[in-house]
Amino acid sequence: MEPNTSLYRPVQYLKGVGPRRAETLTRLGIRSAFDLLLHLPHRYEDATTVASISSLEPGDEATIIGRVVSKGVIRTRRSLRVFHAVLRDDTGQVECAWPGRPWLDRSIRRGQLLLATGPVRFYHGRQMQPREHTVLAEEDELEGETGSSGRVFPVYPATEGLSHRQIRAIIQENLPRLLRDASGREAFDARWRAELGVPGLRDALATLHGPSSLSEVEPARRRLAYEELFYLQLLHSRARHRHRLAQQGIRFSGARVLTGKFLAGLPFRLTAAQQRAWGEIEADMEQEPRMYRLLQGDVGSGKTVIAALAMLKAAENGRQAALMAPTELLAEQHHRTLSELMKSVGIRPRILTGSVTGSRRESALSEIESGEAAVVVGTHALIQDAVRFGAPGLVVIDEQHRFGVEQRRTLREAGESTDALVMSATPIPRSMALTLYGDLDLSVLDELPPGRTPVKTGVRGERSREAAFDFLEGQLEQGRQGYIVYPLIDESEVLDVKAATLMHERLVERFSGLEVGLIHGRLAAAEKERVMRRFVGGEVQLLVSTTVIEVGIDVPNATVMFIEDAERFGLAQLHQLRGRVGRGQHASYCAAFYSGKEPPERLEIFAGTTDGFELARADLRLRGQGNLFGERQHGAPELRFADLEKDADLLEHAWRRAREIVEEDPELRARPHRPFARELAERYGRRESLYEVG
Ligand code: ADP
Ligand code: MG
Repeated sequence: MEPNTSLYRPVQYLKGVGPRRAETLTRLGIRSAFDLLLHLPHRYEDATTVASISSLEPGDEATIIGRVVSKGVIRTRRSLRVFHAVLRDDTGQVECAWPGRPWLDRSIRRGQLLLATGPVRFYHGRQMQPREHTVLAEEDELEGETGSSGRVFPVYPATEGLSHRQIRAIIQENLPRLLRDASGREAFDARWRAELGVPGLRDALATLHGPSSLSEVEPARRRLAYEELFYLQLLHSRARHRHRLAQQGIRFSGARVLTGKFLAGLPFRLTAAQQRAWGEIEADMEQEPRMYRLLQGDVGSGKTVIAALAMLKAAENGRQAALMAPTELLAEQHHRTLSELMKSVGIRPRILTGSVTGSRRESALSEIESGEAAVVVGTHALIQDAVRFGAPGLVVIDEQHRFGVEQRRTLREAGESTDALVMSATPIPRSMALTLYGDLDLSVLDELPPGRTPVKTGVRGERSREAAFDFLEGQLEQGRQGYIVYPLIDESEVLDVKAATLMHERLVERFSGLEVGLIHGRLAAAEKERVMRRFVGGEVQLLVSTTVIEVGIDVPNATVMFIEDAERFGLAQLHQLRGRVGRGQHASYCAAFYSGKEPPERLEIFAGTTDGFELARADLRLRGQGNLFGERQHGAPELRFADLEKDADLLEHAWRRAREIVEEDPELRARPHRPFARELAERYGRRESLYEVG
């Protein structure tokens, strides 16, 4: 029998559980014995500093432990109902009072052992008013059975029908056996653990369920956090290995016929970040395994130039490169930019979108098939419509801000044999990137080209609106363009949110003589596209919009971005919106309007920096990884123990080690790696990657 299978036995068969409690436990996500072992306290009552009751003095702030010897509810003269209980320990007794909490009479009973923390004052004698209290044991339970060897009491997440004390009792009763079972699962040897400064699995679990001091808890948590991160990275590394080696890759030469000429002809020097990213991409392309890389950089960090270089590298090797954008408009924009950029080397990019029809389509298709078209720009339809490339070499996918399950599908379909480069304009902290995209290699442009003037950003309340509109009007009259963005229109929220349609009518009046366009989610795609084109072409001066669909749109003449009800947007969204301006030679402005009394902290942070990576870190801190993951990626990994902010060091270690292991032994067949294979199967089933859909 497998040594560990017993950990996966149903929790029902453990001592003190049974069918009824087992069912209740499922509400806490506990099904197996192992689940129970991993059901960790969500906090600890630190009773290592417990005061003896006789020593309490008015003015103290203290923690005591005592049995309830009497209790009841008393109504004061001002008819406040106060719950009272007298607690006694070996040294004496004291009255505790909970004003305004008469319902405690139902849960606190005589004979219970109570831990209470709060101020002591003088009121007909000494009286404590507990701020917090925990029932440590029932009348018939001895203190020693409450399961803590020391005096730190674990408090477990509980559920209706099963109190934290009952859960603690179940865990304590089964703990020795469960810990024995768990010690067979130790997968990291002593040297490895010493490197990280974490205890073994068995010790970590024993500590978490019964620490003798609070300082032991954190290293034990880090052990579980590491384990979680390591297996996730191992899963990612295996997926990466498959992407890169499943098909034969292309070894591009280092000839640099076109790329060298292109670089020499650029009117600027690459930034240090661009040089680093290009170096990484070049090295990838010159190696046999397929490139599978994510290029991450803020709006304006110069990703397009890097994409152009990679495409030219394919071209100078007699291969074709395709760039795919999420919308036709963006594809056209890329086509224009690349055509301009590549003039210096005599390459003429072709475009293929739904709007390219008739004989133009025919000739594009035949040039693509013959291989004559070295660089092709299109929408995702480029691959999905089974356009045949004569000599495919590289696919570049521009995802702008979203890179989720759908986009991974595109990537999988696109890069069956070619090298693949994905561009994302949403900066995220490295720890999040490794967790979400650990199966890709990562290049980061964390630096903007010199000479940019940051977009001047302000946070504005209602009272500043007229002045702001006057300012906007001034800009428009000088020939600039602007955006006003509203949160999504939703009929049910119309009272709440200023409907953009209504606002549009008012703005048409306010800015009479100027063209004010409107885009919202209810418009037909063709109509949206028509309005966008008029804005891009300069016929529309002010664009009122509820959508952030065209995140990549580039109108260098636009200098003002107003964001209404800005508190409804997340930091990343706000930053994306701001990125629509400041793209030309004119100074640009962004105002975030809030409707409440005080601007939320988020808006102040937004106004305080234009560094997308800094904002991303703030977002992680403010909203937590769970929220961010859920938003970015359906089915994203849920981390129970790891905290991407605190555990960045563990993550780096896990990432590096997982890659080393997979390079050396991709199938995890070597003896020391076999436990990993088993653990992966138990954690992730037969999924080969986190993001396999369907
Ligand atoms: P992104 O695609 O990352 O938003 P782009 O590639 O469109 O950024 O670059 C934004 C602008 O900056 C373009 O006009 C581009 O020509 C220019 N640019 C790119 N790299 C540099 C550089 N190293 N120095 C100066 N300007 C640059
Ligand atoms: Mg660009």
